[in-house]
Amino acid sequence: MPPCGFTKSRGSCRRQSKFFFLVNFAVRAKVTVMRTAIYPGSFDPLTNGHLDVIQRAAKLFDRVVVAVAKNEDKHPLFSLDERLALVKQALHHLPDVEADTFDGLLIEYVVSRKAQAIVRGLRAVSDFEFEFQLALMNRKLNENIETIFMMPKDTYTFLSSRIVKEIARLGGDVGAFVPAHVRTALTNKFAGTLKV
Ligand code: ADP
Repeated sequence: MPPCGFTKSRGSCRRQSKFFFLVNFAVRAKVTVMRTAIYPGSFDPLTNGHLDVIQRAAKLFDRVVVAVAKNEDKHPLFSLDERLALVKQALHHLPDVEADTFDGLLIEYVVSRKAQAIVRGLRAVSDFEFEFQLALMNRKLNENIETIFMMPKDTYTFLSSRIVKEIARLGGDVGAFVPAHVRTALTNKFAGTLKV
């Protein structure tokens, strides 16, 4: 296409400029859409398995929000604020990952954060049935939100917050399973309680 000012009339030149403006605008608009994923969970407390999933998700999305669920009915060991603080402290080295809390319907929270996907971890077949049900239910509630499953490093497939709490409660060392500050928090939580 010859450049404006050479062979074009003023009208077609204006149309050409407008065309390029619109193409440029569309390209820029597409480039600036942030791909955001929400990684929801109880994180009671955060383990190295959770961290592994977070790091994998951070490679795929522009922004990952680790969303700590209030989940009072699960009677968490750590309060919502404590769980959030433990997650936040573990994310210092990940600039595109943030921590937040939510209560109520996950899908509404995902929409409110303008996210496109939910990330969940899959450790073993035993996780599958519940996660599958949850993903399909969330899809029923909102067709536009995808659920992505991520498998952790094989050494973390046996790891769960529940097992970590149990070991810590019995006085075992959980240093290999959780970040150092979570280990300290668990030690403090169980300090003074009867070890069975
Ligand atoms: P929830 O109460 O939602 O199950 P959890 O904190 O236990 O909250 O788990 C949050 C998500 O992280 C779930 O998808 C769970 O399957 C996943 N997850 C938990 N532990 C691990 C692990 N060791 N490796 C990978 N994913 C995990």
